[in-house]
Amino acid sequence: MAKILCVLYDDPVNGHPKSYARDTIPELSQYPDGQSLPTPREIDFKPGELLGSVSGELGLRNFLEAAGHQLVVTSDKSGPDSVFEKELPDADVVISQPFWPAYLTRERLQKAKNLKLAITAGIGSDHVNLDEAMKKHITVAEVTWCNSVSVAEHTVMMILALVRNYIPSYQVVVNKGWNIADCVERSYDLEGMTVGIVASGRIGLGVLRRLKPFDVKLHYTDRHRLPAEMEEEIGLTFHPELESLLKISDVVSLHCPLHPETEHMIDEEMIRKMKRGTYIVNTARGKLCDRDAIARALESGHLAGYAGDVWFPQPAPKDHPWRSMPFHGMTPHTSGTSLSAQARYAAGVREILENWLEGQPIRSEYLIVDKGQLAGTGAHSYSAGDATRGSE
Ligand code: NDP
Repeated sequence: MAKILCVLYDDPVNGHPKSYARDTIPELSQYPDGQSLPTPREIDFKPGELLGSVSGELGLRNFLEAAGHQLVVTSDKSGPDSVFEKELPDADVVISQPFWPAYLTRERLQKAKNLKLAITAGIGSDHVNLDEAMKKHITVAEVTWCNSVSVAEHTVMMILALVRNYIPSYQVVVNKGWNIADCVERSYDLEGMTVGIVASGRIGLGVLRRLKPFDVKLHYTDRHRLPAEMEEEIGLTFHPELESLLKISDVVSLHCPLHPETEHMIDEEMIRKMKRGTYIVNTARGKLCDRDAIARALESGHLAGYAGDVWFPQPAPKDHPWRSMPFHGMTPHTSGTSLSAQARYAAGVREILENWLEGQPIRSEYLIVDKGQLAGTGAHSYSAGDATRGSE
């Protein structure tokens, strides 16, 4: 019997929904690069329903309990008296979502004597100290592709919202006003601007493809350059260095994982190199940016706007400066947990659990750490190290 400890975000304040805005979600046949969607033997939930909060339980309870396993689900994840910390020492598997991360720091991994598998119900396993997971031969897996398109869509929305000054204009209506000049004094067209994408993985490439019809100049950087025919098809200019990309961009959008190489890649010095009036969108991870440098650059007017849904730590404290800085378009971490995405990552978690519980291999595209080293997607996209520092 295995003990599975699952940390999910809180239920809606009015309780688990009794009905939904739409009756179904579209059925997808495959991901954009041909990878198959999750293939669990069965699912015990209705796609399109809320699965990512505590009552939704990722649709796992029947399956796990019928096979004699124990499932503990909680949102209480912070501090030594939390349910998470109390249940951790004898857990075999931890499931956590990046939206509400149960940080697996070195100290926690040392307490988790039975832990063999850490599953990210989503994408981005920076909440796990990967160095320590490697040392302790804990497998780390995430559901690659499950919400990459969700985030790419959200990113395009945020770029447009900033450049066109959508959120303040919406507020004018809510506040019963009609002063058009107030709305447009910071409103521009995206057309003709230079957009710089940092990392052209699944999400970054999705954003590039979605922006092509907007007639913008598309530039990108990555550790591995895209194939020449793809660059030509989308109309891309590659920069081997981050700095040269930042210098020419009107809009910068971040799409790399958080790992030691990328932590605070956008700091005071890098911001100084950007043009006055640059917009930054960050739907990747909060710690890619220096928190206070971003707030200062918005206050001074060097940056024209900053939007995103990722913070550090999460949930963000009430006094986090990104809640109150000017010209921001921040949301809580929602882009990758639409109801559509939840159906895919719940099915992916079930697939990973079915395989692991039966001693079958987990798909290599889901692996971040395995057998004491970076593996699968982790070997391509991450570097070894620890990005959990400061989470408690
Ligand atoms: P991918 O693994 O497909 O892409 C990541 C890309 O980042 C790879 O192309 C990788 O390069 C590149 N990269 C890594 N390090 C660097 C670096 N130092 N400089 C430049 N590029 C780098 O992942 P996804 O696109 O699916 O997701 C990316 C990230 O987005 C996730 O790790 C996660 O942090 C975040 N995310 C956020 C979500 C949200 O809800 N807001 C949901 C899902 C993901 P290469 O492989 O070529 O070395």
